[in-house]
Amino acid sequence: MKALVKRHPQVGLWMEDVPMPDVGVNDVLIRVDRTGICGTDVHIYSWDEWAQKTIPVPMVVGHEFVGEIVEVGSNVIDFRIGDLVSGEGHVVCGRCRNCLAGRRHLCAHTMGVGVNRQGAFAEYVALPMTNVWVHDPNIDRDVASVFDPLGNAVHTALSFPLIGEDVLITGAGPIGCMATAVAQYAGARYVVTTDVNPWRLALAKKMGATRVVDVRTESLRGVMDELDMKEGFDVGLEMSGNADAFRSMLETMCHGGKVAMLGIPAKGMAIDWNLVVFNMLNIKGIYGREMYETWYKMTVMVQGGLDVNSVITHRYDCDDFESGFKTMMSGESGKVILKW
Ligand code: NAD
Ligand code: ZN
Repeated sequence: MKALVKRHPQVGLWMEDVPMPDVGVNDVLIRVDRTGICGTDVHIYSWDEWAQKTIPVPMVVGHEFVGEIVEVGSNVIDFRIGDLVSGEGHVVCGRCRNCLAGRRHLCAHTMGVGVNRQGAFAEYVALPMTNVWVHDPNIDRDVASVFDPLGNAVHTALSFPLIGEDVLITGAGPIGCMATAVAQYAGARYVVTTDVNPWRLALAKKMGATRVVDVRTESLRGVMDELDMKEGFDVGLEMSGNADAFRSMLETMCHGGKVAMLGIPAKGMAIDWNLVVFNMLNIKGIYGREMYETWYKMTVMVQGGLDVNSVITHRYDCDDFESGFKTMMSGESGKVILKW
């Protein structure tokens, strides 16, 4: 089968012919239809320090996908050939304390699809049945293909109650833009989304931000005055991984404000801990999606009218993956989809 492979420990990816994946008794085999390019895939393409430390070569990359089941293992009874599915990209151990307690998103031994085990940028991918989510057959397939990052946005945005709250989202990347739409859908009063990239701020505006802020030219304080926000933001969603963005969030939260942190800082970052202590902030780290409460919530929100279609800005054939990665790296895109 055709697959996009990290073949050599250097910049790039290679479209190759590789053997079909093995299908174990507890696995399903999926014919991949579309895939989304994630920031993680870009790190692997660019072969940065993180990728060099993390990715065993060769590796079929990719984890955001939608496709149809074409084969099931002998233990699999509740998935059928033809089901439209995506995969949860974290394969958990099932045996650690958190897994046994049903808190699988907190597993101590998570393996990443397309990171630590063979991925989904391929004609076929095999996954344990415990990692398969069956879609409403009427769902838009492009949206279904990005359920993994939509899940990051939903997991983060729904970490704290949002009805009537003023929400600050730092970072208008694809996930920050989707979180903007989710926060509006979930009943926030104001959603203020920041970035340093005008193209992405325009996308956040299109996806429902009350106000977008280019922090290079505008102050958050000024925007708070404009909106007559007297005490600061109630909820902060950090989606940039940028230290300045995080610091400015801590400075503009209300007393007792709640912060969910999804963005991954490239290196250690110092903060003013007095802001956390004296403003009595509550900071929560987010990794991945809750299995499977997040998947349930995003499914019913999309069925109920949550519209994230605008985040999908580019579509390419998988053979033209170089254009897809180039578009992602340009910063002038939302989600980029490859058709298999
Ligand atoms: P992205 O890199 O496309 O978006 C980040 C955005 O932050 C960019 O648009 C960038 O211009 C913006 N930014 C940079 N400096 C800023 C500043 N000072 N203020 C405001 N914005 C600034 O990433 P994404 O795919 O949307 O993902 C968002 C973040 O979440 C990334 O850090 C990513 O690594 C991380 N992530 C975490 C998980 C997890 O499970 N914790 C999963 C997926 C992604
Ligand atoms: Zn576990």
